[in-house]
Amino acid sequence: MAILGSTGSIGRQTLEVIQASDNLEVCALTARNNWQLLAEQAKQFSPQALALAEAAGVTKLAPLLPPDIRVFAGGGALDQLVRATQPDVLLSGVVGAAGLTPALAGIECGAALALANKEALVIAGAIVMPAAKKAGVDVLPVDSEHSAIFQCLASGKRSEVRKVVITASGGALRDWDDQAAAQAGVEDALNHPTWQMGRKITIDSATLINKAMEVVEAHWLFDLSPDEIEVILHPESIVHSCVEFCDGSVIAQMGPPNMAMPIAYALHYPDRADRRDTPLDLPSLGSLTFRPLPPRCRRAVKLGFEAIRRGGVAGAVVNGANEAAVGAFLDGRIRLGRIVELVEDALDRTPAVDEVTLDALIEADAWAQQQVTAAVA
Ligand code: MG
Repeated sequence: MAILGSTGSIGRQTLEVIQASDNLEVCALTARNNWQLLAEQAKQFSPQALALAEAAGVTKLAPLLPPDIRVFAGGGALDQLVRATQPDVLLSGVVGAAGLTPALAGIECGAALALANKEALVIAGAIVMPAAKKAGVDVLPVDSEHSAIFQCLASGKRSEVRKVVITASGGALRDWDDQAAAQAGVEDALNHPTWQMGRKITIDSATLINKAMEVVEAHWLFDLSPDEIEVILHPESIVHSCVEFCDGSVIAQMGPPNMAMPIAYALHYPDRADRRDTPLDLPSLGSLTFRPLPPRCRRAVKLGFEAIRRGGVAGAVVNGANEAAVGAFLDGRIRLGRIVELVEDALDRTPAVDEVTLDALIEADAWAQQQVTAAVA
């Protein structure tokens, strides 16, 4: 398998899962700029090829590697690496729009797509899902909620599904009042109570835009309309999501709040891995709680429902606007509450397109980033 973004949070956990298994082999690893860790991973996992998305580190990386490893660098490096190594499974833990064309390259090569890069679906689900279907490859969610839904859906027929219920931890600021949350600083927003994740997704969790993107992701992965998707607050992050069937039966999937289980499920699919991690101890958990989303959270999640209803390039606009707004927040240039406002503004001005092509989607993503960058300036 090829691991895109192997030095990030998802990538490192994926390599741990692979290490704990005896029938998974790595053919390719990539990083954005962390050449030091990439070199260490290459020594440990002996892939055929590596890629560095930012070419600057490649002169430092190359001398640390055995001579038979191919190295790709710079723009298009991930796509080239996928085509050169032809993996059976492509796990994408890349953040943002950068994961889109490598995922499509994987589909072209017939690789099953284990997708942690939800942005690829938010931007271009209209391209990615039909391409996967045409190529006859599986798109396996590596997002805890969607892995849960995928597993719960096995309990009945698609025609028997009434709705899916996506659970939200509420992020780092779930117990803050709206005014305080709007003014939260970077350290506050990065202090997630239940999940250890990368910076971008932890901010997306604090604003709840992560949940808006997961609504869009569920729409594409499982062909669900907005009325078939509900989002509720579940602070303990143990029930990862549920599916309600037409007889009123609700099937939920539970597990500890870490990504090892959804990663292992996707990598071993359709089998289940025989894993020896600490199992869930229900008596020690005591109680699990569920409640409706508070207003601040509903406002952010609405962006996802709105993107589905608008269709066209709206998902790409939400993604691009959010990516630029999160960047501005992490740079200390805007307060947290501005992020949702900026994404709402961009979505309201979503450009009309004649045809939803990959180029139109990438252009809309870039347009939305420019809009936000200009508004912040
Ligand atoms: Mg998730």
